[in-house]
Amino acid sequence: MCPRCGAFDRSGPGPHPSPCGLCDAAPPPFDLARSLFAYAGDVRAAIVATKYAARPYPVDAVALRLHEALTGRWRDLIPDGAPPTVVPVPAHPWKYFRRGFNLPALIASRLSRRIGLPFDPLALSRTGERVPQARLPGILRHENVDGAFRVPRNRIVPPSILLLDDVYTSGATVEACARALKSAGAASIVVVTVARAVP
Ligand SMILES: [Zn+2]
Repeated sequence: MCPRCGAFDRSGPGPHPSPCGLCDAAPPPFDLARSLFAYAGDVRAAIVATKYAARPYPVDAVALRLHEALTGRWRDLIPDGAPPTVVPVPAHPWKYFRRGFNLPALIASRLSRRIGLPFDPLALSRTGERVPQARLPGILRHENVDGAFRVPRNRIVPPSILLLDDVYTSGATVEACARALKSAGAASIVVVTVARAVP
């Protein structure tokens, strides 16, 4: 796994983890990213069913797994004395209207309660990209979300943020969020996603 962006490496665990080619060429605007699962098999089926067919999603079970990871193998992501605020990636307004919920916000709210961290679902607002990200190939995703997120005027962003999203695909969405939060004054941003696209 890339120690910086958390990309899974097909060659399997190596003795000296080194940054992936993308992080080597241009480090991402967040500090670190980690994902619970590969976006494949049952995990992919559960996320797709929830998003597009409004099926129930195991929010509590996922929050429990994230809690276990953050207090176990990912414990270095939460430094003592600087507890981060959990911020979900906001939904596109029309998607929120249609589905009636935002999956990252549901998970983030359960996780923050379980682990005892502050929760701020309004730290970011989504002004709307032109095309839904899921319909675009990776190469066009960065341009599409560039400037789609902003910190509402007069809102003070917490210095340390745990940014939560459901799926990490090209990284364009969380990178756009991280840029908006950093330019509003956030010092540290750790990205945690439920699933991560595999090469
Ligand atoms: Zn990387």
